Amino acid sequence: MSIADNLMAVQKEVAGAALKAGRDPGSVQIIAVTKNVAVERAREAAAAGFLHLGENRVQELQHKAPLIPGVRWHLIGHLQSNKVKYMIDKVHLVHSLDRWSLAVELDRRAREQDRVMPVLVQVNVAGEETKFGLQVSEVWDFIMDVADLKGIQIQGLMTIAPLVENPEEIRPVFREAKRIFDRLQEIPRVKMEQLSMGMTNDYSVAIEEGATMVRIGTAIFGRREY
Ligand SMILES: *Cc1c(COP(=O)(O)O)cnc(C)c1O
Repeated sequence: MSIADNLMAVQKEVAGAALKAGRDPGSVQIIAVTKNVAVERAREAAAAGFLHLGENRVQELQHKAPLIPGVRWHLIGHLQSNKVKYMIDKVHLVHSLDRWSLAVELDRRAREQDRVMPVLVQVNVAGEETKFGLQVSEVWDFIMDVADLKGIQIQGLMTIAPLVENPEEIRPVFREAKRIFDRLQEIPRVKMEQLSMGMTNDYSVAIEEGATMVRIGTAIFGRREY
């Protein structure tokens, strides 16, 4: 199947999951994850109308951004503070804010460029030791602190669920993420609007549980070789 066909199939499934949950299909943004995908193929997705692309490494994003103009780049992977200066003027939304030192650097570099960097706070909902992200117990205070930084605008949460065979197994993780997300609405000065969760294996369940952004690579571009 072509990338355009894959995209249509994903769109259909996204809409189906949204409707099943009584949600407007337009309330879910698909981010086509182009990591380890050649520029030509990433361009095909953009040409098919998918203008939100996701990368998990700054170096790859720096390479692709000038070659695929007119799209919005999402940085979805772990971000090292010393790479912030290379991505700050290229990225539409950072999904992976997971520590104070990174918030300080994003704030500083964004203000240098007279811009405000939109971010999502990454939360390790399942408490997996191998995953980045704040612990659930830390999130409230962290957001309160980051809300004081003028160069950053918190727009919501991101989480990566554990990899399982049957996505039903991790429905409780997504449900918990949504519950935390809803509770954080009470924090003054921040507007929690985006809940980024769901990948190829589990995006339908994530949408049923309230995802507003899904990050999809394999279902669009096929298996990555690495
Ligand atoms: C690679 C990646 C994705 C996409 O994964 P697929 O299973 O290929 O859809 C989503 N989110 C993050 C953070 C990733 O690194």
